[in-house]
Amino acid sequence: MSQEFFGKEKWNIKEATDYYGIDNWGAGYFSINDSGDVVVTPSGADNGPSLSLRKVAREIEARGLSMPVLLRIENILGSQIKLLHETFRKVIRDNDYRGVYKGVFPIKVNQQEQVIEAISQFGGQYNHGLEAGSKPELIAAISMLNNRSACLICNGYKDEEFIDLGLHAIKMGYQVFFVIEVPGEIDLIIERAKFHDVKPALGFRIKLSTQADGQWAESGGDASVFGLGMSHIIDAIDRLKAEGMLDCLQLLHYHIGSQIPNISDIRAGAMEACRLYEELVLEGAPMGYLDLGGGLAVDYDGSNTNSHSSRNYSMEEYCSDIVESIITVLDKNDIPHPTIITESGRAIVAYYSVLIFNILDISSFEPPPIPDKLPEVDNDLLENLMATYNMVSTKTIQECCNDALFYRSQARQLFKHGHITIRERAIAENLVKHILIKISETSKELDHIPKDVEKINRLIYDVYYGNFSLFQSLPDVWAIDQILPLMPIHRLKEEPTRQAIISDITCDCDGKIDKFPDTYQDKSSILLHPLQNGDEYYLGVFLVGAYQETLGDLHNLFGDTNVVSIHVNDDGTYQFMRELEGDSVADVLSYVEYDLRAIKNRLKNIAEDAIHKGYITARERKSILAGFEEGLRGYTYFEKE
Ligand SMILES: *Cc1c(COP(=O)(O)O)cnc(C)c1O
Repeated sequence: MSQEFFGKEKWNIKEATDYYGIDNWGAGYFSINDSGDVVVTPSGADNGPSLSLRKVAREIEARGLSMPVLLRIENILGSQIKLLHETFRKVIRDNDYRGVYKGVFPIKVNQQEQVIEAISQFGGQYNHGLEAGSKPELIAAISMLNNRSACLICNGYKDEEFIDLGLHAIKMGYQVFFVIEVPGEIDLIIERAKFHDVKPALGFRIKLSTQADGQWAESGGDASVFGLGMSHIIDAIDRLKAEGMLDCLQLLHYHIGSQIPNISDIRAGAMEACRLYEELVLEGAPMGYLDLGGGLAVDYDGSNTNSHSSRNYSMEEYCSDIVESIITVLDKNDIPHPTIITESGRAIVAYYSVLIFNILDISSFEPPPIPDKLPEVDNDLLENLMATYNMVSTKTIQECCNDALFYRSQARQLFKHGHITIRERAIAENLVKHILIKISETSKELDHIPKDVEKINRLIYDVYYGNFSLFQSLPDVWAIDQILPLMPIHRLKEEPTRQAIISDITCDCDGKIDKFPDTYQDKSSILLHPLQNGDEYYLGVFLVGAYQETLGDLHNLFGDTNVVSIHVNDDGTYQFMRELEGDSVADVLSYVEYDLRAIKNRLKNIAEDAIHKGYITARERKSILAGFEEGLRGYTYFEKE
């Protein structure tokens, strides 16, 4: 397998860079330094200061925060906002586009206060605004957005309270757009606007027939639940005309899905939307804003293809395809170029968070050595297995494959019926493993590897137990088979020799990572380093800033992880900006509505009863109760003493 592939050349940093694909998905933010550590370069490709993640992890632990830790590198947010705006500006200039670009960040992608605060701060100079899809998001947006020239887009299903909040924001000088998502909303908005005597800026969310490939195909196209169809649009226009409010209609919005891997869908969506935009102008609406929603994808697997976890275009192509599409459609009838708005969420925040966790233990595939003398049993199972082992060669590989699997099931049958003991069965299973390993080794000499042998290759891996919960920290890996880049953050000068999958510490068999980018030789496992006596081994899961924090849940009551935000200074030093302690055991119990006081009282009574029955002494009760107290205060993840 891969071991041999790499064995041909000496392992070095370049090999590590290629194997883990860090230059492909790292977008200039992540790379490997000469000491073999992963470093972050928050300014991106233009060679600013870099920082070793191993060093940061060590310093986080020195401050008393345990792994797992979600590390946020603040400046990356600023770099991504800058990249998006500067790229649009360049494309707008190059194409003589007569309009500007304004972005908004959709709060749902990462609602954490410090994220919204940082976006509002870094986005200030670019008039980067916010998009809210609910009342709490709108209140957060109003309180965080400092720049009054930035847009505040209200999407989502809106009740009277939601609309009133937006109208109040308009009164206070915010540039609010109410996007009408379903036909029923329009009457309520008209009514509330009259009541408050405010002239609202309105937008229509339209249903495009363009459907994007990818994970979120259903958000767009005819099947989408939100958005106005053609006759809804006409009804809405007529309704606004009747109220004398057509001059409020300024924006057209669509969203055909998140993580759109294929650029041709982005172009098709923009072209179709521009035709509708043109029609609205011809109907007499002032318009002026075209909001193309989200969808700008992140190349998580670094393949630069139209696979679900990737994209087949660059930021520059994204921007130019949008600008060119608008020009192509609107110039035909001399329709003025609109202000372009996009609601990129994922592309803005994905890069800035890294989940770092330590490996607690490894369950190795490698069986103990074959004993010199096999035990005597009254059947020939062990002898047959031994014979198969000795027979493995390139010529007999398929036959040995069949035999190994046959004898393994025979061993299980014999055990079930009481014909062999647990010790004999263990020896049989170990012999099977030895055969499988020998088959796998031998198969490297073949030009063509038979299907069955390929299957065997996929069975030979170690399980690395990581101190994290997939359900809390990487929910998309579980829910939608998202591939996220994962690799050791140190020891990269050493050749990784163990083929591994990663398990979390929930007791759920779904809590594992066993899908890796197509570019790996083996897509179902990853090469990692063996543990070294007593030294921590740290893995990082990268590009987890979008959606993961918010969608995570309390499976097995593993709570929020510790979070540390850092800011890297121009001189390469860095500051801890903020640290948030993760949930304690008491926190997560209270989330699921346990009454902590009642729990403590019950524990006291149980311990009292145990004294009464003579099981423990009063002194033991004291230390047992102290242990419970400490347990409630502790971190939900594995803590080292
Ligand atoms: C989710 C969502 C977005 C964000 O999409 P990304 O692909 O993360 O950029 C934008 N707009 C709307 C309406 C959404 O629902």
